[in-house]
Amino acid sequence: MFNPATEEQIGEVRLGNAEDAKKAIAAARRAFPAMRRTTPSERVVLLHRLRDAVLADRDRLIAAMSEEYGAPQSFITASIAHAAQVFDEAAKTAASFAFTRQIGTTEVVMEPVGVAAAITPWNSDISFICTKLATALAAGTSIVIKPSEMSAIQTQAIVETLHGAGLPRGVLNVVNGYGQVVGEELSHNPGIAKISFTGSTATGRAILRGASESFKRVTLELGGKGPQIVLDDANLDEALPHIVTSAFRNSGQACIAGTRVLIPESRKAEILPRLAEAFAAVQVGAADDPSVGVGPMVSAKQWERVQSYIQLAQDEGAAVLVGGAGRPEGIERGWFVRPTVFVDVTNDMRIAREEVFGPVVSVISYRDEDEAIALANDTDYGLQAYILGSDENRMRRIAKELISGRVVLNEAAPDAQAPFGGFKHSGIGREFGAFGLEAFLEPKAIIG
Ligand code: NAD
Repeated sequence: MFNPATEEQIGEVRLGNAEDAKKAIAAARRAFPAMRRTTPSERVVLLHRLRDAVLADRDRLIAAMSEEYGAPQSFITASIAHAAQVFDEAAKTAASFAFTRQIGTTEVVMEPVGVAAAITPWNSDISFICTKLATALAAGTSIVIKPSEMSAIQTQAIVETLHGAGLPRGVLNVVNGYGQVVGEELSHNPGIAKISFTGSTATGRAILRGASESFKRVTLELGGKGPQIVLDDANLDEALPHIVTSAFRNSGQACIAGTRVLIPESRKAEILPRLAEAFAAVQVGAADDPSVGVGPMVSAKQWERVQSYIQLAQDEGAAVLVGGAGRPEGIERGWFVRPTVFVDVTNDMRIAREEVFGPVVSVISYRDEDEAIALANDTDYGLQAYILGSDENRMRRIAKELISGRVVLNEAAPDAQAPFGGFKHSGIGREFGAFGLEAFLEPKAIIG
């Protein structure tokens, strides 16, 4: 394992294989019958214990994630806070959820689906692991987790915390390893009833194929190419900080990044210099510097990928407004890229259609509201869209037209129980709150 800000080796990890995955599945299956019989209130107690353990270990977890991941401190701190919060929220959901319902004379019991598997990506792995574990526990099932092969150190840190909080044996099982080895085993193994996956659209497709053999339930949280619609009535002073934050969240390595900024033709001459100024002001540097807005890419491979997209955009005819290829000036080591904004982009170019997963933004202009909506929807993805304007009714009307799992109006922050997930190639199903819990449950009708 390497620190992406310094390129120094920080550790070595033994990767598991298919046999390890099988052992983990067997352990989870042994733990399942007892877990299935727990009451919601017993599960709430367990979830609160895990929340407290994460909060108590906060500094150690932040250190592990910073060293392995190098993201800006604000992002890492928020990720660990989120990891604690998901246990709290899952407890709230479990406490209020109708696990038993009556439909006429039929009793409907919401039962855990069976042993679950979670496969997670590297961008904020602790928070993804905790989200999936918390939901599985709220539903009353055990889980096998395969974290990203790039997150082994932070995974080790969080697993120590969670096991230290007294989870029953076999309820949480973690197998490090490559996707094509351990991930494939989990997708195909008939001992798993449900897969909760977060990662790329291509991997989601492979998992869906594997899961189809035994009709596993799947939740897929995949990629995005989020539009940010800047309306002609937007107040730029208020909108610009949100546009930059949404585009460069987690150094652009976020599925919800708003990487297509749609601006009205009528205000183009005014908006472009303001966008250039705002994006050029973003500081690049290592995780421990609080002024930093963009950290290193997670790996050399990811650095190369971003560079290839910066080249591709120019080959396609886009023009650089801010940034460009290569390393930021004055930075000699680490997988840092220059935050880059492209103009003269059309929505059919690959830079506007494919997920770059770095701090790279395309600015596209539109003539009227209908065209803005059409451009926003003209993508294979549909995860998170943003609207910036000054008329709430108008923004809500436009939001209803967007094919997107979430639409954020101006600076609004999501409620922790609100569903998260995508339309189209952004995935299947939802996480968080009652929607997330239902994805780990099956209704059983007892007719009598
Ligand atoms: P990835 O798809 O390469 O890997 C994700 C996980 O899948 C890893 O644990 C990997 O080992 C595993 N995997 C790879 N091949 C597999 C296979 N054939 N079978 C089973 N498992 C396999 O994704 P990544 O590069 O780690 O993460 C970045 C991607 O994740 C981006 O596309 C991003 O948009 C997406 N993402 C989505 C969300 C969301 O909530 N929608 C959140 C974060 C990241």
